[in-house]
Amino acid sequence: MQLLYQGKAKQILATQDPHTIIVRFTDTVTAGNGKKRATIPGKGALAAHISMRLFELLSTQNIPTHYIRQLDQQSFLAHKVQIIPLEVVVRHYATGSITKRLGIPKGRAFQPPLVEFFYKSDELGDPPLCEAHIYALGLATPHELAQIVSLAQRAAALLSDYVAQRDLKLVDMKFEFGRTAAGALLLADEISPDTMRLWDARTDESLDKDVFREDKGDLLRAYQEVARRLNLTLPLSYLTRSLSASGEGQGEVEGTGEVGTGEVGL
Ligand code: 5GP
Repeated sequence: MQLLYQGKAKQILATQDPHTIIVRFTDTVTAGNGKKRATIPGKGALAAHISMRLFELLSTQNIPTHYIRQLDQQSFLAHKVQIIPLEVVVRHYATGSITKRLGIPKGRAFQPPLVEFFYKSDELGDPPLCEAHIYALGLATPHELAQIVSLAQRAAALLSDYVAQRDLKLVDMKFEFGRTAAGALLLADEISPDTMRLWDARTDESLDKDVFREDKGDLLRAYQEVARRLNLTLPLSYLTRSLSASGEGQGEVEGTGEVGTGEVGL
């Protein structure tokens, strides 16, 4: 299958249908714009399963997404879109870059949730954008931006309610949108602990990529815990496999795609 795009943690592959693509999650995890990198067997499958569940949830609530259906443990079929190079971040609580940029204390709640924009550009380091920048860069029209913000707000509220029932706090998340050839706007990319912050509702323990970013412990265990709370069914190997990162500073490594013998509800 033809590789259309190699991302930091995902591959986009062509299908025979020009209107669909395969989104394949790898076991690579990166932070700091790719400066820190590791390979964690099983991470790709866990992020894929969490993402698929959350896209399914949003689809049932009339949020248009690119997700179509699961293909294997690490891949799903999706509508092909042209990704808009705009990262839409919705924050329910302050942490991460906003605490550094604006000095807002970690943990402060945003009511209503805060919506921020960043320019998706590795070269420029994903700088923050205001609405005027978005129009100046020609990223979206005012009508499209209004749609994007409304979809991001609705998706964030739905996801937050969903994970709250599973003792998880959705702290913040990053959404990406794309346009189909027919011009439809869809929520695209992924929705996983790679792209959102999830804290244990009682202890505020991180169960997301911050575990890797900040060397706070075992990333695989954190993602397994999220999968367990979402009641996802994965092959046994993804539940029992222990962390065995093959080291930092490596090149892009493809996921193993190894499938276990039994199925188990995590
Ligand atoms: P922050 O702006 O605090 O670094 O990130 C806010 C939220 O957006 C976090 O949930 C973070 O995971 C997500 N996010 C922002 N930019 C990126 C990015 O370039 N890659 C990924 N994977 N997530 C991002």
